[in-house]
Amino acid sequence: MLEELKKEIYEANMLLPKHNLITFTWGNVSGIDREKGLFVIKPSGVEYDVLTPDDMVVVDLEGNKVEGKYKPSSDTATHVVLYNRFPEIGGVVHTHSPWATSWAQAGRGIPCYGTTHADYLYGTVPCVRTLTKEEIDEAYEKNTGILIADHFEANNIDPEAMPAVLCKNHGPFTWGKDGHEAVHNAVVLEEVAKMAAQCEMINARVQPAPQELQDKHYYRKHGAGAYYGQN
Ligand code: 13P
Repeated sequence: MLEELKKEIYEANMLLPKHNLITFTWGNVSGIDREKGLFVIKPSGVEYDVLTPDDMVVVDLEGNKVEGKYKPSSDTATHVVLYNRFPEIGGVVHTHSPWATSWAQAGRGIPCYGTTHADYLYGTVPCVRTLTKEEIDEAYEKNTGILIADHFEANNIDPEAMPAVLCKNHGPFTWGKDGHEAVHNAVVLEEVAKMAAQCEMINARVQPAPQELQDKHYYRKHGAGAYYGQN
């Protein structure tokens, strides 16, 4: 079942080590078939060099395993919440990529210091709080997803314009129209996190890029008036 999607999501998962976003098995990619209401996700804790497309696990939007010989990723319940609360997304990624995770561990969102950031991520990359003991004990992964979605809703952040979030003391999640775009955004996030940290090292009083410059770069690549790239 969902053989094409399994192959696509296997390939998207394999891009994580290729782009140096993960160490050992510290990450996962999923992708959804919205018509069927099922998504495909990496199995938990299986080494990347032995993974195959057939090892991918099929899960429904309530978090039940529908097919697969392995247990799905330990972060599956977070992916479930993100798919349910952000209906426009088609792929989700979690990593412990070191620069993005450093901002998450420091509990800071990543300000937009330049156009590399503004080309992909509109505004500060948010950092959501650490879960309470009760939230961790009750349903850690599910509550991680709820915290992210509630934060976006409460702060009127459009998940399409901000396809990334940091979870304090944990790490980043990114998303996109499919698994590959979610991985692309994870690579961008890591580069932007590295540049922002280096930027603050070079100039501790650095300010975010002017709003008009951020707008120019974001909107020349996104939305009705976009003109970046080829027709
Ligand atoms: P899984 O192998 O269960 O997906 O876990 C990876 C991870 O990064 C946990 O946070």
